[in-house]
Amino acid sequence: MTHEMTKPGHNRDSKLFYQSRSRRPLIDHAKGVYMWDVNGQRYIDASSGAMVSNIGHSDPRVIAAMQKQMEQATFAYRLHFENDAAENLAWRLAERAPGDLERVFFVSGGSEAVESCLKLARQYTLAIGQAQRSKVISRFPSYHGSTLGALAITGYTPMHAPFAPMMVDQPKIPAPTCYLDRDDLSDHDRGLKYANMLEAEILRQGPETVLAFIMEPVGGAATGALVAPDSYYQRIREICDQYGVLLIYDEVMTGAGRTGKYFAAEHWNIVPDILAVSKGLAAGYAPLGAMIAPDRIVSPVLDHGGFIHGYTYAGNPIACAAGNAVLDVIEQDGLLENAASSGAALKAELGKLMASYSFIGDVRGKGLLLAMELVANRDTMEPIAPKHMAAARLVDIAYDKGLIIYWRRTRGGYRGDHVMVCPPMTITLDQFGDILGPLNDALAQLETELKQ
Ligand code: PLP
Repeated sequence: MTHEMTKPGHNRDSKLFYQSRSRRPLIDHAKGVYMWDVNGQRYIDASSGAMVSNIGHSDPRVIAAMQKQMEQATFAYRLHFENDAAENLAWRLAERAPGDLERVFFVSGGSEAVESCLKLARQYTLAIGQAQRSKVISRFPSYHGSTLGALAITGYTPMHAPFAPMMVDQPKIPAPTCYLDRDDLSDHDRGLKYANMLEAEILRQGPETVLAFIMEPVGGAATGALVAPDSYYQRIREICDQYGVLLIYDEVMTGAGRTGKYFAAEHWNIVPDILAVSKGLAAGYAPLGAMIAPDRIVSPVLDHGGFIHGYTYAGNPIACAAGNAVLDVIEQDGLLENAASSGAALKAELGKLMASYSFIGDVRGKGLLLAMELVANRDTMEPIAPKHMAAARLVDIAYDKGLIIYWRRTRGGYRGDHVMVCPPMTITLDQFGDILGPLNDALAQLETELKQ
């Protein structure tokens, strides 16, 4: 019996399943910022998949590097061999990471990277004799991954609730959703107001029991590219220092250049204690993530029995070869600069749409991590009635017009619908029309539907 795949995709049942019954067409090929399905329909990938394909699709330089590695050695298990691709990428990440972050632990994705941060933090406090520290404070809303450890610190009720009895209940503080506030505070004071909620929570929990605080420096899909006032970042660092709480930056989405700096922490000159990165690291060419930590945290752990954690595919040579080649492309093509400048230009264009569509309540983000919030009333930021599934509808309408944007459904106590507009860092101004044209048409169609 042969298992040769036929091409039609939807003409026969699929044995695959993901989160729902909905199915999309089969991909045929992808190049740069564009993707084509097997029916010949072209799409512009204005969400880089799930904010992953930072350098665009099918770059021949990355393909060649992966091929070269595959001809050399496809797999080398870490208990038997080191591999040059992983060594090299670790050095390059250490050079780019903020402050004293220099020891790199490779994994295969974002959830694994976050799990690793939690385990390293815990083992570090055990090594230094602070065993009572086990609580990890995080923010609501937030997203840190699907595995049970990462999910326990995720502030996203629909994904969290069904599994709550299986997880440790970890404390959450409100994310700095300043755009919803209608008080008279300055931006600076509002940033401090939200940061000080961390101090209050640490005191409520008992400082000696708190292990870490984890945050996305620019929010991802759970908050829609949420950026806090500058004062927030500094004050959070101070509070963590004051109470001996480890500060973990989840840069799974923001890392590897998406916000216009290699790590988003650089925007505020913050040095977290531990950092997780993934999506853009190998930019979708291979599954890859990393945890980066300082030697002052890693060494005590290695000296006290070693790091009790690991994955079979850690430091996979093909994934790391892809990571090195992706970093080469970012450096050679000036993609950090492009993410910053194109991001600012695209944000301005999205902002202009607010003049035509009163239901766009906010446009926010940094670099090419951008989002639009859809609301019933811009003055009050009252959300659109859930029956409209506004963000989901916008994404579906846009998809039918050949535009891929990204959404997360509004449920579970979070006010607001948002869509993410996050094209690859290679996007050029002359490609903007392929995003803004269909987006404008999709918004017009949504506006009609909202009136019905
Ligand atoms: N952390 C953040 C900030 C994310 O955005 C994501 C994924 O969207 C994750 C963690 C989990 O990453 P993965 O889906 O690769 O496990």
